[in-house]
Amino acid sequence: MMVAIEDLNVHVDRRLAEAGFAGGVTTRAMGDMAQADNRARALERAGLASWPGCVLRQKHGSVVRALDAETEQSPEGDGWLLDAAGRVALVYVADCMPIFIWDRGGRAAALLHSGWRGTRANIAAAAVEALALRGVKPAELRAWVGPHAGACCYAVGSDFKALFRPESLEPRGGRLYLDLGKEAAAQLLEAGLSREAIAKSPACTVCGSEFFSFRRDKATRRMMAFLAKRHA
Ligand SMILES: [Zn+2]
Repeated sequence: MMVAIEDLNVHVDRRLAEAGFAGGVTTRAMGDMAQADNRARALERAGLASWPGCVLRQKHGSVVRALDAETEQSPEGDGWLLDAAGRVALVYVADCMPIFIWDRGGRAAALLHSGWRGTRANIAAAAVEALALRGVKPAELRAWVGPHAGACCYAVGSDFKALFRPESLEPRGGRLYLDLGKEAAAQLLEAGLSREAIAKSPACTVCGSEFFSFRRDKATRRMMAFLAKRHA
């Protein structure tokens, strides 16, 4: 099983560490990541306390920003691309998908925030393209879709039929449910990743009590996904 819950209360894909990256998604037990002290504690436990974290002004779009020593705090966008050690890419999630895409050879990686709008805008393909510009071919990439609102809970209107592929929409009991993870996996496959390279967390943030969920809680407490390159 590649996807595991570590004792840090962080969801991770172990393949990330094999490629030289530190990354994961916090859970409810680590607290609301809108709070700076909770963020600092989470990064400390991940062994990244000495590196500055950088957040985005998330817009539910497909803009992917490069993160390096010069990057200023809070640019607008929904994705980070990094190819150097020294900083930590952060995105906030609470039902939206955190998507990790990385070079299995460890050169570069991307971290995305992708709800239905970002997925509709295909931010995954934008990240794959940005990585290709850095010399990492899609066939060399791996991806992990972290915990998000699952098809078990994510009811949508019939207007979504015009926005997503039919396979990503599940009709059930007279309602329609969106499978965001399935859509993201199809987009990654279409962008050139191999099927075996793509993994998805089976966890649903809405019915899984270990998460914060915007849809369930009607509150803005959030989890944090983080990503850093361990060595230069
Ligand atoms: Zn669910």
